[in-house]
Amino acid sequence: MRDVNLELASALYDMSAVAGDSQRAWGYKRAAKAVLRIDRDITPLVTSNTFKAIAGIGPTTDRIARELILDGRCAFVERAVRESGKEQEIARLHNLRRQYLSRAAVKQIVARKGSPSRAKYRGDFQMHSIYSDGAETLESIINACIERGWSCAGMTDHSYGLTIAGGMSMERAIEQHAEIDALNRTYGGRFRMFKGIEANIRADGGIDMEQHEMRRFEYIVASPHSALRKSIDQTERMVAAVSQRGVAILGHPQGRVFNMRLGVLADWSRVFEVAAKRQVAIEIDGSWSRQDVPYELAAQALEQGCIFALDSDAHSHAELDFAEIAIAHAKLAGIPQAKIVNYWPEKKFLEWAAGAWDR
Ligand SMILES: [Zn+2]
Repeated sequence: MRDVNLELASALYDMSAVAGDSQRAWGYKRAAKAVLRIDRDITPLVTSNTFKAIAGIGPTTDRIARELILDGRCAFVERAVRESGKEQEIARLHNLRRQYLSRAAVKQIVARKGSPSRAKYRGDFQMHSIYSDGAETLESIINACIERGWSCAGMTDHSYGLTIAGGMSMERAIEQHAEIDALNRTYGGRFRMFKGIEANIRADGGIDMEQHEMRRFEYIVASPHSALRKSIDQTERMVAAVSQRGVAILGHPQGRVFNMRLGVLADWSRVFEVAAKRQVAIEIDGSWSRQDVPYELAAQALEQGCIFALDSDAHSHAELDFAEIAIAHAKLAGIPQAKIVNYWPEKKFLEWAAGAWDR
């Protein structure tokens, strides 16, 4: 499937990189961001001459889009790259944009029939509230989830080790649990919030919490937040993380960010092998700039027997919709719903999460 919106945004980022540190570079970047916000395929807009009417889209963007659509490539951008002598830098940047999906592509893919379905998605297992670096209260998050037709959610504020993200102290975690218990009583029968935490995977693969602290939560998401720009192999770190008792979900496994960094480099087949054996779910983090793991790696994990969690990693209500991006990647990877914890009934989910201590 062609993702013209992403191709155009990528071409604009190339133009921005070529333009260096200038007003024009800033303009191209702004146009790229405008293109990425559009939630439908731009092809009919360009061919009907209405594309330019969209805010942030100028004549150069329109011209690049036209060339991309008609020729499948853009000679204008290719020439600019050649003349700048920055071919290597541009090739490096292309590598930082692989296997991302534009909003338009996500909408198209999610609308397709088959597994996993948007309608049957029960709830999201990685999100943040005002207890760490999120913007919303627990009760307003519950209501935003109910509006989306979900029946559960897992609250996973950052653990205290990640001070940069306002990590939650254990005292605050205990307060949060009391609030969740009260909300679950209020919303009983309609909605259930689970007590999770996003713990941090240290450089040595250990988790930044004590075992007795981890046991206070219903499930643990462990994610890498450091050493994400290193060119060294970090297989041992990630194998150690999924080997750790109590870890239920490996959150945004690579730690990659669109157009910025590749994240952890590892022999993922070894990580997936251990994760499959211990039934640690591999997360597809749907946060737009992450999309981690993406569909090709997810397909590999599926083949190796892994199970999955499809999460939004939301820090605000609007970002809960990132769950759809995770669903789109799972659809491309061909993951059946039976292999995705977000589709499991509550009892099965809780038994599996508690089992992370015994497997
Ligand atoms: Zn994280």
